[in-house]
Amino acid sequence: MKMSTVNESKKTHRIPLEETDVLIVGSGFGGIAMGIRLKEIGHDSFIILEKESSVGGTWRDNIYPGAACDVPSHLYSFSFAPKYDWSRKYAPQSEILDYMISVVKKYQLEGSIRYRQEVVRAEFDEASGRWVVLTRQGKTFRSRFLINATGGLSIPALPEISGLNNFRGPFFHSARWKKGFSLKGKRIAVIGTGASAIQIVPAIAPDAKSVLLFQRTPPWIISRDDKPIGEMTQSLFKAIPLLRWLYRKFIYISLEWRVIGLSIFPSLMKSYQKVAVNFIRESVDDISLQKIVTPNYTIGCKRILLSNDYYPSLQRKNVSLITDSISKIQGNGIRTRDNRLYPVDAIVFATGFQVFDSVIPYPVYGLNGKNLRDVWKEGAEAYLGTAVSGFPNYFMVVGPNTGLGHNSMILMIESQARYIQKCISHVLSKDIVSVDVKKVVQEKYNRRLQKRLRRTIWTLGGCKSWYKNADGKNTTLWPGFTFSFRLMTLYPKWKNFEIKKSNSKKQDKELKRIPASENAQPAHR
Ligand code: NAP
Repeated sequence: MKMSTVNESKKTHRIPLEETDVLIVGSGFGGIAMGIRLKEIGHDSFIILEKESSVGGTWRDNIYPGAACDVPSHLYSFSFAPKYDWSRKYAPQSEILDYMISVVKKYQLEGSIRYRQEVVRAEFDEASGRWVVLTRQGKTFRSRFLINATGGLSIPALPEISGLNNFRGPFFHSARWKKGFSLKGKRIAVIGTGASAIQIVPAIAPDAKSVLLFQRTPPWIISRDDKPIGEMTQSLFKAIPLLRWLYRKFIYISLEWRVIGLSIFPSLMKSYQKVAVNFIRESVDDISLQKIVTPNYTIGCKRILLSNDYYPSLQRKNVSLITDSISKIQGNGIRTRDNRLYPVDAIVFATGFQVFDSVIPYPVYGLNGKNLRDVWKEGAEAYLGTAVSGFPNYFMVVGPNTGLGHNSMILMIESQARYIQKCISHVLSKDIVSVDVKKVVQEKYNRRLQKRLRRTIWTLGGCKSWYKNADGKNTTLWPGFTFSFRLMTLYPKWKNFEIKKSNSKKQDKELKRIPASENAQPAHR
């Protein structure tokens, strides 16, 4: 590691500076996939910056009771790192996190990760063709490539409800569950009925004194059909890799076709909705409760949730579903618009994540000091959800419009990691300083994408969801098959990029002549 000297108000500080070819931000599934991809092609000059002290991203943060994946684990795992002995069809959070840790170990990524380094700004230095990245902890990193892998769902959204700070008990977001928090004898309020809440409520209801669930919009839920995977099956998967591979393919195909209804022929969703309506009828005895939990939008418009224990939990004596909207929070409880006070001891906000303002949780300055947040003020967009014009050598894993409503995100992550690695390899193997996707290419790509998204259930289904921004633009989801994304990202098309050739050694020499401090200092604040 180098130390650079920065002059500030006549004082001289030593600022730690680390240089590398590739800087990856985040060590969730995206960052891990990217690191492994680079390692596999023998490229070891990369650093992964992680703001916490361990890997895992969303699977490290979401430790709430009942946290589990709603995509079967044999598919919600890397294709190149199969795990034969998943304990259940849908593994719990702890098992997924253990899997991620084991993959990091297997591929010897530990040495490349810098923990407790939270990126606070990144800037492209045109003169040197390097990204200069600062962390909250006061370190500077300089790299040829910068890859954001912070994920779309990492910053909790706490609603602005008046009086929250007057509340005398503990309150926290579902993704910031208080370790060791005892539910015993407590009246717990859960706000929100999304993917997290429907896992939390059944898990906490047996222990809590009471659970008050505040619903604004009911979700569509279908049966989850979770089951343990027995030792016999695990042994067979281990002994016969083909069997495990076929099972993975079977899950893949059974989920992949769903995009036909969601995105290509949304009218099909009305028929599919009957499955969910029947599920409500089978699971909920009380007719009035059936009505309350039945959404008024078409299934698929918001994420379709999977649970067999959510509806039964609502029918427990100690669980109440409240549909009056919240007017304020006060010292001892929650007051609703009909002026009823619900006394509670703790509040859990299962209210989702900030998606739009913070796709990238730190400012990124590209060519001419342009801030990515300004470029995206009308909605985030990128080329293949991976590169943004004006931001050379900058890539994203799980960028705009790469989310899925129907299949495993790991498929998209692997496609993107492969694509980004190919871009990096190309630059490094030729006399190239940087690649930057052409603006016209990005615009054409997004025009087509948005045209297609306008015909999907996410637009036509009659709901508000985090998939769309305030203007109704869907900046989050990929509207096609995952294999078509894989095909599109198989090989970078170089004609789509501005390629800045190096005046070769001259530029490198110049870079060496520039004191590290100059490169480390951001020009724009
Ligand atoms: P979410 O699906 O966005 O749900 C947030 C819930 O909070 C919604 O019911 C929302 O109501 C409600 N809400 C938000 N603000 C509110 C307010 N001011 N007052 C009352 N209610 C409010 O969030 P999430 O459950 O955390 O899930 C987010 C995403 O994480 C999921 O869509 C999924 O992609 C992922 N996830 C996945 C899994 C998994 O099993 N793989 C598990 C958990 C989460 P409205 O619907 O009316 O807005």
